[in-house]
Amino acid sequence: MDYRKSIESYMQLRGHSTMQLRAVLFDMDGVLFDSMPYHADAWSKVMTDAGFNFSREDVYMNEGRTGADTINTASLAQFGKPATQELIETLCKAKCDIFDTYPPTPRMQGAIELVQKVKACGLTPMIVTGSGTPALLDRVQSNFPGLFDEKHIISSFNVKRGKPFPDPYLLALEKGGFAPNEVIVVENAPLGVTAGVAAELFTVAANTGPLDAKVLTDAGANLVFPSIQALHDEWEKLFENFK
Ligand code: CA
Repeated sequence: MDYRKSIESYMQLRGHSTMQLRAVLFDMDGVLFDSMPYHADAWSKVMTDAGFNFSREDVYMNEGRTGADTINTASLAQFGKPATQELIETLCKAKCDIFDTYPPTPRMQGAIELVQKVKACGLTPMIVTGSGTPALLDRVQSNFPGLFDEKHIISSFNVKRGKPFPDPYLLALEKGGFAPNEVIVVENAPLGVTAGVAAELFTVAANTGPLDAKVLTDAGANLVFPSIQALHDEWEKLFENFK
């Protein structure tokens, strides 16, 4: 990949004369934590049991939507009407019940090393996630000790409109005090990439799931890596190209 070329096309499109990296905005599920296989199993089972046509791949295509939005989108597409509030609540609860039986999700391979490198370069790591469990902060602090400041974590508690809207990323800029040409986004899902691009930020995708890399490029990713480990391995080279 020609990093400089991707950076220059981004700068030209967004009208930045320079890039001065100060922060990296990490998505959480599928980027920092290898949690998507569990989500895919739980959602596809619950939706299939409820009469939807919903594969594990569909879960990855919807990654980033809220549970209610995922169910509604499928209901509109397959039955031509929105899901009832009752169905949404039943399915969300069933999904959470299954998810809770799984072991704690492991860190993504290479994730802690990548965040350490980012910090060692003098950049601020932030988390921008659509997830919103009360245990989120504890999970981050116990898996990434000392790497993320509490005020640098944006979750679904902080915004009304989640991804694919740009709102979570715009709030991250505001909370961190960063300009668009001072950050990059790291995402793994098409809708997450869409959110980063809608916020007009340089968006790096790591294709950690089963989807074709093309869906990430089509969503507007400026660069696509095959894994977080690969992004970690290339980090110095990529960072050099931002100078
Ligand atoms: Ca994700």
